[in-house]
Amino acid sequence: MSTRLPSYLNAADPGPWAMFLQQLDRVEPHLGELARWTDTLRRPKRTMVVDVPVRMDDGRIEHFEGFRVQHNLSRGPGKGGLRYHPAVNLSEVMALSGWMTIKNAAVNLPYGGAKGGVRVDPAQLSRGELERLTRRYTSELSSIIGAERDIPAPDVGTNEQVMAWMVDTYAINHGSIETGVVTGKPISMGGSLGRRDATGRGCFVVAREAMRRLGMQVAGSRVTVQGFGNVGNAAARVFHDEGARVVAIQDVHGTLVNEAGIDPHALLRHLREGGGGWADFPGATLVLADQFWSIPCDVMVPAALEGQITLANVSNIRARLIVEGANGPTTPEAEDILHAQGCTVLPDVLANAGGVTVSYFEWVQNATSFFWTEQDIHAKLDRVLSEAFDSIWRIAQDKRVNLRTATFITACSRVLEARALRGLYP
Ligand code: GLU
Repeated sequence: MSTRLPSYLNAADPGPWAMFLQQLDRVEPHLGELARWTDTLRRPKRTMVVDVPVRMDDGRIEHFEGFRVQHNLSRGPGKGGLRYHPAVNLSEVMALSGWMTIKNAAVNLPYGGAKGGVRVDPAQLSRGELERLTRRYTSELSSIIGAERDIPAPDVGTNEQVMAWMVDTYAINHGSIETGVVTGKPISMGGSLGRRDATGRGCFVVAREAMRRLGMQVAGSRVTVQGFGNVGNAAARVFHDEGARVVAIQDVHGTLVNEAGIDPHALLRHLREGGGGWADFPGATLVLADQFWSIPCDVMVPAALEGQITLANVSNIRARLIVEGANGPTTPEAEDILHAQGCTVLPDVLANAGGVTVSYFEWVQNATSFFWTEQDIHAKLDRVLSEAFDSIWRIAQDKRVNLRTATFITACSRVLEARALRGLYP
């Protein structure tokens, strides 16, 4: 049995939550009268830390730390993903939940912000262990989640299968099935067409809109992508299909480059169907990880984890546009330097909002039991994100602020207006 302290008792590392607080400090001067409510966003509304004991295949009982943070519920039920990763801790889940509040309000979805996580490396667990962990975690959370309370979805390390176990566990505990309790479900269980690729597709939509305003062409542009998971691989495919040249893809397995362009469909086929490895992909050359940052490109899509673009590598970056597919990939200090270098940053809270937008479509389809076509979903996603981008772009121009601050102004104004109208109880 481990005698190490739970990660949330280690207060030494302020982590990503400190970054979120810094972003709030930057927006506060722009909020006028509503600024008196900003402290609401500096503390999560509800934080749940649960012990998740799991019977392992060898008979041992292992304890995992589980979290769910409902950062703000002023505009509707909590909404945000569930992450399985060995680095998950309370600071990270708090920050991710805060970013969900901002993201959902920025694209005007009728949700508050929430996020969950379990400190576990899912690759080290058998399928049975993963199922038991998911079911126990869901059960521990069952008093605070629900289609009208708080709706989890996939994030790093979780997928449609994890969502299916969550629906089933919640249904057994409640004696009736409520498909809208999570989104990102398999299609056969009430999932939505277009959800799987929605985050990556959304990255492309906002990038296309930004490129139009910056006088850049999508066709022939050079794109680099960090992360080849759900977000990175979809973003790479859509950019490629729209005529861009994906010149580098980096994942934990290595960094692939090809100046003539990597075909992400071929890479996926090679990895999934061909059973090939990252290093023996014939369509690109493997280079050292650090080189990724200095590859000349028009668009860089960091779609892995937070804290990737830092003071240590920012001066090597030569992209004109950064599209944050991941949550929190750029530190505030590095972002200032990017702007000084003439690089535009499309912030996570806008750039990766496509996933939760199609989650919202899924939730609406579940509530009405009427399902839409994929074409319909693509068109609606495109409209929601293009309109959000347009109004945020205008705010950035009018107030002479960067796009992150403009997105925070839009979102915080919506959240705090609802907060002020609801008032305090009692
Ligand atoms: N995990 C995704 C995000 O960070 C999607 C959340 C959702 O669909 O609720 O935006």
